[in-house]
Amino acid sequence: MDFDLRQALAGMRGAVRQNVVLGPMMHLRIGGPADWLIEPYAEEDAALAVRVCRDLDVPLRVLGGGSNVVVADAGVRGAVLHLGNLNRIVRDGPLVTAGAGVTLPSLLRATKEIGLAGLEKLTGIPAMVGGAVAMNAGTRDGETFELLSSLTTVTRDGDLRVFGREGFHPRYRDGGIEDEIVLQATFVLTPDDPQAIFERFSASLKKRNATQPVTQRSVGCVFRNPPGDAAGRLIEVAGAKMLRIGNIEVSGLHGNYFINLGAGSAADFVSLMEEVRRRVRERFGVELEPEVKFWGFEP
Ligand SMILES: Cc1cc2nc3c(=O)[nH]c(=O)nc-3n(C[C@H](O)[C@H](O)[C@H](O)COP(=O)(O)OP(=O)(O)OC[C@H]3O[C@@H](n4cnc5c(N)ncnc54)[C@H](O)[C@@H]3O)c2cc1C
Repeated sequence: MDFDLRQALAGMRGAVRQNVVLGPMMHLRIGGPADWLIEPYAEEDAALAVRVCRDLDVPLRVLGGGSNVVVADAGVRGAVLHLGNLNRIVRDGPLVTAGAGVTLPSLLRATKEIGLAGLEKLTGIPAMVGGAVAMNAGTRDGETFELLSSLTTVTRDGDLRVFGREGFHPRYRDGGIEDEIVLQATFVLTPDDPQAIFERFSASLKKRNATQPVTQRSVGCVFRNPPGDAAGRLIEVAGAKMLRIGNIEVSGLHGNYFINLGAGSAADFVSLMEEVRRRVRERFGVELEPEVKFWGFEP
């Protein structure tokens, strides 16, 4: 690192820190340091950070709630942009606009209390709005993009863009936003009785608590479901439930969740993934594809 990103971003409101260990920010609690962590104060500061990183040729990754990323033990080179300060929620009738850094659980809590329904379909997903859009996070009850009416993003050239439904191209667990960075999203919700919303939310939460290890350190589902089947079922039948490498274990509750039992490492996580894939391949001839993202594992 022969430059000082802090100096280059002196005009940006927010924080720029060097050599920040990412583990504590990740849902899995695993991951080494990022060379730089940038936490802009507002949308225009995020756009400035993106432009400066482009001009200086600094690789830039965007971190949301860290609930779908495994960071290498050696960390990541370049900069990580964290948008936790973009945390405003604004209501306009049935439309609710949330910054990329608002967490889905807090957005759900806020909209449920004012009698706007829809987000309870995403109950239990520990994402930030930006990450939920990027991944088109969803459950059996619905997906993020079904509830969206518009998005504000910043391109990798630092230009702000607003686009509506006609510009959306979501797929299964992929918002189709390519390398754009989500700054805010507007959801179109449905007026409903707060008690009815609360009951649907509670029922989903109860089901989730019974079938998924939600209170443990994980990245949610490790593998995508193959067409017509469930990765968790294949893993279970292949006899890989509760398989353990180091301090990472396949959950006994749901085969597609890997748990960090304490001092787990990213290296053990990846070894366990490979072993589980091997077992499923040998038993079913199915190649499981990761849903989770990996940072810092490039050669
Ligand atoms: C206990 C648990 C349960 C889960 N249940 C579900 C579930 O039911 N359904 C489901 O779909 N997922 C689930 N997940 C996975 C995860 O919550 C989702 O993939 C979620 O969308 C990730 O959001 P995040 O904010 O944590 O993003 P991160 O994990 O931080 O990032 C994920 C990806 O999104 C990108 N990204 C993040 N923010 C932005 C942004 N502002 N702009 C552009 N790109 C961005 C990142 O660069 C990365 O590529 C679960 C995870 C856990 C730990």
